[in-house]
Amino acid sequence: QKVEWAKLVNEQTVSADGCHVELAANIGTPEDIDAVLENGGEGVGLYRTEFLYMGKMELPSEEEQFEAYKKVLERMKGKPVVVRTLDIGGDKELSYLDLPEEMNPFLGFRAIRFCLENEEVFRPQLRALLRASVYGNLKIMFPMIATLEEFRQAKAILLDEKESLKVEGIPVSDDIEIGMMVEIPSTAVAAKQFAKEVDFFSIGTNDLIQYTMAADRMNEKVSYLYQPYHPAILTLVNHVIEAAHEQGKWVGMCGEMAGDPIAVPILLGLGLDEFSMSATSILPARTQIRKLSKEDLHSYKDEILAMGTADEVVAFIKEKVE
Ligand code: PEP
Ligand code: MG
Repeated sequence: QKVEWAKLVNEQTVSADGCHVELAANIGTPEDIDAVLENGGEGVGLYRTEFLYMGKMELPSEEEQFEAYKKVLERMKGKPVVVRTLDIGGDKELSYLDLPEEMNPFLGFRAIRFCLENEEVFRPQLRALLRASVYGNLKIMFPMIATLEEFRQAKAILLDEKESLKVEGIPVSDDIEIGMMVEIPSTAVAAKQFAKEVDFFSIGTNDLIQYTMAADRMNEKVSYLYQPYHPAILTLVNHVIEAAHEQGKWVGMCGEMAGDPIAVPILLGLGLDEFSMSATSILPARTQIRKLSKEDLHSYKDEILAMGTADEVVAFIKEKVE
């Protein structure tokens, strides 16, 4: 099998009926790019920037961040790189920031909520990203967006920093796409409204599933409720993809689900444009997609979305794909 996979390192990801989708990788540090290139990643679909901030005594400087982003963009040689702005809080703490203890950290003061209230943390990251943008194909997305106001506010701060850099005579790319994670159910439900204002969506199923099913992603007692193939989740994913495509925008997925062999055929049929996964899943997924007909899978869509349980969905897909 490994031999079969290796042959596809430099190939694009095309379904049996000739449709291209992009297989990208999730990374946490610039060093992860080695594995992305070795495994034939067509881009970076999620750069989790938290690691720049974790395990140290103070905030990373703008310069330190700039170097990291530049390195990733240069090594990807013009392939798309989606960088997610800081997503701390919840399960990720920072010792040097005095974040409040919370009853429900996953429903609390984290990610974009924190950044919008702490612009002195947010702005240097945006400046570092903007300065790095001239070294490759940068796309920026904001995590844990719940409302349009949050997206607009984050985007306004980004554009404000871009203006400042231009005034200072520092080059910034004019082709940076600005998108958001869809990981809170409010944004999936109201995807039509969001789709008009974003350049792209990236569905974060790790959180979207926990919030939709009200099941803590870390709590084993309720892990039986953590169901990627639940018709409710698939209905939300489908709705997000349709809303984006109506506006001519693209949709990726960067949660674990995007690289799952049961989910891949379903997502291909729903029309997902970009699948972002751990680097080692890319070649198996490419191998799988080359054998799948997107048109056939699309024709099962209504039947799948009308099913009552996740088990029914899994049984159906196994039968159709085998
Ligand atoms: C997600 O929620 O699916 C996601 C990709 O973000 P994280 O796992 O970092 O919360
Ligand atoms: Mg998340």
